[in-house]
Amino acid sequence: MKRHRSASPASDSTTTSTHSSPSPTSHQQSESKRSMSNILLRLTYYAMEVGFQLAFAHFITLVYSPILRWLHGMPNTHIVPWFLAIYATTLALSLTQYFVIATLVDLLADYVFPDSIRLAAHKRSKQLADGEARKDQWGAPYDYGHRGYLVNHMLFSLRWCVPMSIAAVMWIPRLMLDENPPLWQIPLKVQCGLVFGDLAYWLVHISQHKCKALYQWSDHSYHHQFRHPWGSAGTWLGTVDLLVATFAIGSFNIYCTELIFGRLSLFEYMLMINFVHEMNCVDHSGCEFPFWSGCPFFPPLGYWLRLDKSIAMHEAHHNYNHYSYGLLGFADQFFGTAKYPPGYPLADRPSYRLTQIFDKPLHAVCASIRL
Ligand SMILES: [Zn+2]
Ligand SMILES: [Zn+2]
Repeated sequence: MKRHRSASPASDSTTTSTHSSPSPTSHQQSESKRSMSNILLRLTYYAMEVGFQLAFAHFITLVYSPILRWLHGMPNTHIVPWFLAIYATTLALSLTQYFVIATLVDLLADYVFPDSIRLAAHKRSKQLADGEARKDQWGAPYDYGHRGYLVNHMLFSLRWCVPMSIAAVMWIPRLMLDENPPLWQIPLKVQCGLVFGDLAYWLVHISQHKCKALYQWSDHSYHHQFRHPWGSAGTWLGTVDLLVATFAIGSFNIYCTELIFGRLSLFEYMLMINFVHEMNCVDHSGCEFPFWSGCPFFPPLGYWLRLDKSIAMHEAHHNYNHYSYGLLGFADQFFGTAKYPPGYPLADRPSYRLTQIFDKPLHAVCASIRL
C-alpha cells in the first residue's frame, strides 16, 4: 500500500513544514488567508455545481414534459402498450441523466482538475503506463483506456438505467407536471433524497459485508474488483446488487421524501435524482472535487458534518473492502461506521479526520453487534 503515500492532495497540513520556521503569528496569518481563499474557491465551485444541476434538471424537464403529458393522455385500457411507451420514455430519460453526469465527472477527474485532488496515484494514465504489471497489484485489469471507454460506459449506463427507469415508471405518473411546490422546499427535498438514499444503501451494503452468503449471492465482489474505481464505475455492479442499489437510491429515497413533503414535481424529481447520481459518481471518482460538500444547497453544513469526506471514505472502502458503507457519510456517522480501514494512509491526517457526530447510544448498540 506504499502507493498512496505519494498521492494525497497537496493541500494537506502535514506537508507544510519543511522550510525555515516562520514566526507563529505570520504562520497563522498565512494559514487564515489560505483557508479564506480556499472557502471562496469552494463557494465558486459550489455555485457552478448547483447552477449546472438546476439548468440540467430544467432542460430535461422541458424536453420530457410534453412527452409525459401525451403519455398521461393515452388511454391505459391496453396496459402493455401503455407500459412500454412510458418505460421507453423513462429509460431514455434515465439514460440522459446518468450518462451526462457520469461522463462529466469522469472528464472533470481526468482532464480538468489537477492530479493533486486524486486520492491515489493509480488512476488511468498511471495504469496505462504500468501495463501488465498492474494486474497483480491492482486487481482486475479494467481500464477504460484499454477497453473503449464510451462503449463500456454506455452499455453499463444502459444496464443501470433499466431498473432505474422501472422505478421511474412508478413515480412519474404521480409527479406534478403543471404545479410547482414552493421553491424553498427544493433544497430540503434534494438533501432528503441524498440522506435517505445514503441510509437505505448503508443498510443494504453493510448487510452484504456482514453476511458472507448475502455478499456472494448478491455478487457484491463484482463491484469490489474495482479497487480503485472511477466515477462511472459506481454503477458497475452484479445483477442483484444493481437491483437493490437502484431501489435504495432511486426509489426508496423518493418515497421517503414524498412521505414528508407530499407529491413532488417533475423538476424536483429530476433534480433529486441528478444529485444522487452526482453523489454516486464523485464517491467512485477517487478525486476530492472541491464542489462536493455533501450538502449542495448549504455547503457549510456539509463541511461541518464532514459529508465532503464521503469520497475519501468510499475510496478507502474500495481499497480495503472494509468500513464506510454509505454514500454520503451520514449513515456511517450515525451508526459509528465512519472509519478508515487500518493502514489507510490518509487516516492520520487532521484534515481527513472523521467525526461520529451522533455519538454514544447508537454506536454502543452497533459495537455490541460488531458493525
Ligand atoms: Zn462502490
Ligand atoms: Zn462494499
